[in-house]
Amino acid sequence: MDLTFSPQETAFRDELRAWLAANAPAPEPSDGGEDAHYAWRRDWQRRLYDAGWAAPAWPTEYGGRGASLTESAIYFEEIGRARVPMAANVLGLLLGGPTLMVWGTPEQKERYLPPILSGEEIWCQGFSEPDAGSDLASLKTRAVKDGDDWVVTGQKVWTSGAQYSKWCMLVARSDSEAAKHKGLTYFLMDMEQDAVQVRPLRQITGEAEFNELFIEEARIPDANIVGGVGNGWKVALTTLMNERAGLGFALQIRLRQLLDDLIAKAAERGMLERYGDALAELHVRCESIRLLAWKGLTDVERYGQPGPEGSLVKWLWSDTNQRLTQLAVDIVGAEALTSGESWSYELLRARGNTIEGGTTEVLKNIIAERVLGLPRLKVAA
Ligand SMILES: Cc1cc2nc3c(=O)[nH]c(=O)nc-3n(C[C@H](O)[C@H](O)[C@H](O)COP(=O)(O)OP(=O)(O)OC[C@H]3O[C@@H](n4cnc5c(N)ncnc54)[C@H](O)[C@@H]3O)c2cc1C
Repeated sequence: MDLTFSPQETAFRDELRAWLAANAPAPEPSDGGEDAHYAWRRDWQRRLYDAGWAAPAWPTEYGGRGASLTESAIYFEEIGRARVPMAANVLGLLLGGPTLMVWGTPEQKERYLPPILSGEEIWCQGFSEPDAGSDLASLKTRAVKDGDDWVVTGQKVWTSGAQYSKWCMLVARSDSEAAKHKGLTYFLMDMEQDAVQVRPLRQITGEAEFNELFIEEARIPDANIVGGVGNGWKVALTTLMNERAGLGFALQIRLRQLLDDLIAKAAERGMLERYGDALAELHVRCESIRLLAWKGLTDVERYGQPGPEGSLVKWLWSDTNQRLTQLAVDIVGAEALTSGESWSYELLRARGNTIEGGTTEVLKNIIAERVLGLPRLKVAA
């Protein structure tokens, strides 16, 4: 892949860079907890939206800029470089919107896409269940037809941002007789109904980023089915592919920033020589991940979708982030373990990296089987 930007790509970068320089977000709230933090990110999304920068990769007919893949990568790099927060509705912008663009009806696109972009309606992803994570297709939440509605009952878990969400991308079993992957349907569930109870789960970081969802006979109209009854597995794969491609690119940029911060900290504390080897190794890893992420774009350009190599980026990123934050404890010292310190947050939050968006073990299986062509794993009966 040629990484030299064309004049058009350079112009795109310069325009965004100038806008970001002139439009810094409000200062991060120091109190008010997670709610205040979320409101701050929502306000930031609104400002991006007003200037046409909320989702440049979306086609112009849906309010985006029709940015090319390279321009989208430039967008994430510049957003990272400016150290501004992620837009509040990140799952709607990167996962939900693109899924609707592929599978949604014209009415669904018209109804749902504009408030995703402006951040007026937040989206969450209701896929995982207590007994269905890596093996998602074994999920048990069931949907039963009742007139023009579906009645849904079950439990979801690890639903990020559910406490702020209006809509949930919900995969449920609509046919218990069909084969595992075939009896699933993808719904848009209105979170504002008594039948849906959201219980936050407190994490090791102290925040409650994700939740349990208890769904007791929630009603979802036919009109909120995405991609047709029984087609939920295929629609869910579109959501998951967008998760790995879009978020993956943004995360490797954040990793680079953390490493730059750590190198600066080591220099400030006179520890560059002592930790030089470890920092150099992290630098090499960051560069490899960056180049692999760009290579992933070439695959999308060539084949129309991300290849299985995307799993390599996710695995290397999560492993490197855990090593980096661990090294930070040695360099920063005991204060890195003090609650409220940003390095302490990074260290604790990194533990979940090897689980979220596909566990390391599952990613290694994908790489072994689909990249290296090794024999498939045989599980003893
Ligand atoms: C921070 C965070 C945010 C999340 N946000 C969301 C969200 O918004 N929406 C959502 O739906 N989900 C979300 N998740 C859930 C996430 O997708 C699941 O945790 C993940 O898919 C793993 O599923 P599980 O937790 O059920 O673990 P399991 O699948 O039960 O795995 C348990 C262990 O077994 C291993 N294992 C499982 N299968 C295999 C295999 N075939 N070969 C080898 N080893 C295997 C796993 O690697 C793991 O170590 C989030 C998770 C985290 C940590």
